[in-house]
Amino acid sequence: MKTLRSIAIASLVATSFTAGSAIGAQQFVTIGTGGVTGVYYPTGGAICRLVNKGRKTHGVRCSVESTGGSVYNINTIRGGELDMGVAQSDWQFHAYNGSGKQAFIDAGPFKELRAVFSVHPEPISIVARKDSNIKHVSDLVGKRVNIGNAGSGTEATWNVLWKAMGHTNKDLKLAAQMKSSETPGALCDNKIDAFFWLVGNPAALNKEATTTCEANFVAVDGPAVDKLVKKFPFYGTTVIPGGMYRGNPDDVPTFGVLATFVASTNTSADTIYAVVKSVFDNFEDFKKLHPAFGHLAEKDMISKGISAPLHEGAIRYYKERGWM
Ligand code: GLU
Repeated sequence: MKTLRSIAIASLVATSFTAGSAIGAQQFVTIGTGGVTGVYYPTGGAICRLVNKGRKTHGVRCSVESTGGSVYNINTIRGGELDMGVAQSDWQFHAYNGSGKQAFIDAGPFKELRAVFSVHPEPISIVARKDSNIKHVSDLVGKRVNIGNAGSGTEATWNVLWKAMGHTNKDLKLAAQMKSSETPGALCDNKIDAFFWLVGNPAALNKEATTTCEANFVAVDGPAVDKLVKKFPFYGTTVIPGGMYRGNPDDVPTFGVLATFVASTNTSADTIYAVVKSVFDNFEDFKKLHPAFGHLAEKDMISKGISAPLHEGAIRYYKERGWM
């Protein structure tokens, strides 16, 4: 069984060049994240916090932006309006290869996309009202489901899974596209029966849903899931750990991807070097900044979930540390 933890994809080595920025001059960079009650937003916050601590030495000043999520971040990096962002490993892969969703196919391979490192696992998480009797992903047929806002990795992966299960959104009573932060309120107000998303654990939003009303995690397994996990290198099976959220004492089987940190060749090697050095020189501090980082290991972060070439500035640091 291929588990999320065992996913290892050989890193490609970046071959292109980026312009170096002069150390000494102030450099302002922005990280695209996700909704404020997700894990991307605190991930960007943790990275920026460590970068900003050393800003007098390296001159990089970092800020975070709450965004629609993975696909928005990748597209906005591509458009040159964001320097770095957090993105699901499946959409990193598809953006680099020009595959997976029509807009990425139409745009063609994003060859300037660069991986920096991967972060926490993101299991597919379906949270349902207790009175909805949804126990398995297949029970979503005929229900009111939030499938993810436009621009989220969540919505893009929903489309892949739901199609693989032989469905279209017409098989739902409602395919809602609220942004993630609005979903616990909608669930507990009985406006939707369930919400779907990919997120690290523990997530503030999942806590909010399970403490505000009675809500359960739903199993995401079966033949369609087995096929997807077998076919694509970036998927792995995992569980939503029992006991993490109120009213959910047992492990719930699911599958997922990794969160990754990405940039493009537009962002200079010196900037990315300063960012990765800030994180990995202070790795024990970094791991304490969010409970989803507790199990992270440096060498996994530079090999697992990486399908675009590593950024030149990241390679420089990883070589210095003897990791490559
Ligand atoms: N994986 C989600 C997405 O790209 C975002 C999760 C989060 O905000 O932590 O849609």
